[in-house]
Amino acid sequence: MERLYKGVKKFKEVYFPEEEALFKELAKGQSPDTLFFSCSDSRIDPNIITQSKPGELFIVKNIGNIVPPCSPQWKKSGAAAAIEYALVFMDITNIVVCAHSDCGAMKALYMKAEDFKELSHLKEWIDTAQAARDRVAGTNNELSQTALNEMTAKENVIVQLENLKTFSLVTNALDAGRLKLHGWYYDIGAGTVHAYNETENTFEEIS
Ligand SMILES: [Zn+2]
Repeated sequence: MERLYKGVKKFKEVYFPEEEALFKELAKGQSPDTLFFSCSDSRIDPNIITQSKPGELFIVKNIGNIVPPCSPQWKKSGAAAAIEYALVFMDITNIVVCAHSDCGAMKALYMKAEDFKELSHLKEWIDTAQAARDRVAGTNNELSQTALNEMTAKENVIVQLENLKTFSLVTNALDAGRLKLHGWYYDIGAGTVHAYNETENTFEEIS
């Protein structure tokens, strides 16, 4: 914790003065144009990988970058609340769902039921992404653990993009041409981000 306290002190003394004009502007309000879903994983920082600043991304972080579908079961989902807030109160023109390599949530999709002792909330949450595992099943049994994880994470992105389309706010904005959806996969060790190409059904490196 000491490290974080020192960081706060350094933020005030070094970072804030350098960006004071930005923070004074942000103090008046926010107007991000992108709603960004990423994993809670400590290695994922949307602002760093997009080289953006505070105020540019409206970020939802959760385990597995999951967007539960619009349904009574997920009425209290924070993701759903963020979608409504972002699309009603802000001029959001893009929604990004960003997965990543070595994702614990994707590994959890392959855990046995008995592995989830005392993890009932986690299990229920992870089950929302079960369709990603189903899509991978049967495609190739020879996959290494790393390749399986990557394929599942990418399929999970596609599942979550489809879940986004269960919200009428999203489909209305898409139909009106006011919104675009983007599926990304971030490779931590390579420093690369790959974007989903729906037409080709592939992920292509952003370069
Ligand atoms: Zn993750």
